[in-house]
Amino acid sequence: MSLGITWVTGWIRLTAAVIAEHRVELITLDREIGDGDHGENLDRGFSAVIHKLDDLPADALPGDALKLVATTLISTVGGASGPLVGTAYLKAAQAVGKAEQLDGAAIVALLTAARDGVVLRGKAEVGDKTMIDAWTPAVDAAAAALADGQSETAILEAAAAAAEKGAESTEPLVARKGRASYLGERAIGHRDPGSQSSALILRAAADAAAGSGAAGDAAADAAAGSPGAA
Ligand code: ADP
Ligand code: MG
Repeated sequence: MSLGITWVTGWIRLTAAVIAEHRVELITLDREIGDGDHGENLDRGFSAVIHKLDDLPADALPGDALKLVATTLISTVGGASGPLVGTAYLKAAQAVGKAEQLDGAAIVALLTAARDGVVLRGKAEVGDKTMIDAWTPAVDAAAAALADGQSETAILEAAAAAAEKGAESTEPLVARKGRASYLGERAIGHRDPGSQSSALILRAAADAAAGSGAAGDAAADAAAGSPGAA
């Protein structure tokens, strides 16, 4: 079972909901080792995305939806994270190209391109206490699940679980990139906010896939085609 536009838009809507739900938590994390705006930045960006998502044409492709997220985040999110996360979605959109359906290899290519986009802009490595500490283990786990012959949903589940562990792994680290790097050893004991939001984004990807199986897609198609559907 490959994943298409229903999954991508489901992922985006779930991400917006989850970021809104965790807004205060992300603000609190960023207040501890940054300037306290990370939750606000991402929530503003994904709220703007949701407003634009309904304008996507009915025949939009996964890449179109990812591109919409990219351009919206880059233009509405301030701070370091706007360009970083925006570039992740831009590179993900380029990686999927004009594909209508994404198989496991395409999902891994999407995630790899997203991570590479963050690295291209931010030049962070694993261990620098940034969102890369969530993204890189997620990409590695996704690639391993693909090599193991697992399903798209299982590949995304592996990525989400690895990102959550990766976010946790930032707690004992000294930051070498971003605002937290000014704190030196005082950053030790605090989780990096960008790694936490990245884990939320990747968890939303897995949850959207788990909920958009064949039955989920059929239900969504039926809802879209029924006269009473909003
Ligand atoms: P700002 O730091 O400008 O206030 P945010 O608070 O929105 O921006 O985002 C902070 C997050 O951005 C950090 O927690 C970290 O994960 C991420 N970040 C900062 N600099 C880099 C970088 N060079 N590479 C990757 N991620 C980075
Ligand atoms: Mg900040």
